[in-house]
Amino acid sequence: MPAPDDSARPAAGHASGAPADPFGWTGAEARRRERAGLVRTLRPRAADSPLVDLASNDYLGLARHPAVTAAAADAALRWGAGATGSRLVTGSTTLHAELEAELAGFCGFEAALVLSSGYAANLAALTALTAPGSLIVSDAGNHASIIDGCRLARAETLVVPHADPAAVRETLDAHPGRRALVVTDGVFSVDGDAAPLDELAEVCRTRGAALVVDDAHGLGVLGDGGRGAPAAAGIAGAGGVVATVTLSKSLGSQGGAVLGPARVIEHLVNAARTFIFDTGLAPAAVGGARESLRLLRREPGRAARAREVALTLYERLTGAGLSAVRPDAAVVSVRAASAEAAVRWAADCRAAGLAVGCFRPPSVTDGVSRIRLTARADLTDRQLDAAVGTIIATAAPVGR
Ligand code: PMP
Repeated sequence: MPAPDDSARPAAGHASGAPADPFGWTGAEARRRERAGLVRTLRPRAADSPLVDLASNDYLGLARHPAVTAAAADAALRWGAGATGSRLVTGSTTLHAELEAELAGFCGFEAALVLSSGYAANLAALTALTAPGSLIVSDAGNHASIIDGCRLARAETLVVPHADPAAVRETLDAHPGRRALVVTDGVFSVDGDAAPLDELAEVCRTRGAALVVDDAHGLGVLGDGGRGAPAAAGIAGAGGVVATVTLSKSLGSQGGAVLGPARVIEHLVNAARTFIFDTGLAPAAVGGARESLRLLRREPGRAARAREVALTLYERLTGAGLSAVRPDAAVVSVRAASAEAAVRWAADCRAAGLAVGCFRPPSVTDGVSRIRLTARADLTDRQLDAAVGTIIATAAPVGR
């Protein structure tokens, strides 16, 4: 029988006259999380961790690339440790402007705007490109930052089934004449599948709707040399298409950006609250991301290698009887029997020298817990072999 839920009761001490404990309810919340196997704890990583990393989002192995860390350090020395103000006051440097121009050019968009995170970029696009009375059509598998952007926007949000352009078309057709924006992850963060962007773009184009693609997991991995999911689908730079990206995954830095037509970017500069009221991105992060972009141009094979590593992981793990979705980019998630099994599986991998991610509710909206592997372009074949062996060897005891 489940333990009684005391989280809604008045704080202890109320009736006795003693002052109420304003955070007394956290105990009940913690017990509930524990019963469900959903406790999360921080595990600070040592700089010299010996673990093989299949857990981070450093898909191209650039976070510690000497050219990237040197560029970040140079930028801090030249411009300062912080941006010193919001972008519209003192926080825009010529380095920010250069990164924006290079990012837009690389991904095939007219213009770009750098913000302090991919999260802030999604909030900016969703709130500033809609108005009361607008319609947002959002894929059921979209990332939490998109969900929060929809909540913040003063528009009506309709959630459609995952990767279903026909459902998007029907939803738009049921609301003719409304200003509409369709939003999707380019590559979904849980299962690593790519959105049907060409079909979605056509549905949007023929109905006058904007398409916003969150390409956090596509930039650096999909498309020619890593130009991203919109470029891979041939829709980058189209008039009705906007992309958001993070600089913190394949580019190994920190920060985010919105990419799109120049008039849309100009509008965001004037209207996006997470741009206007936030301090500009730190120069070190800007310099690091710009160097990573330049590296991608010099070494275009990195993107293909990350995809190849992901496919190898998928083929060998499913070949051993494990369950995963065929990856389109660098994320491979392997299903676990329960949240507890996923936690134990990840812990066993860790004990064997392999860091893997562990996704449980609420990070997975379908309730299926997974261990999540990120393919890295800089993994050697030997590391890959050892990782596959560890994941398979630790799978059986926790059930599949
Ligand atoms: N969108 C997606 C799909 C993501 O996976 C993430 C990062 N987890 C973000 C946006 C947010 O990016 P950032 O970490 O730069 O805020």
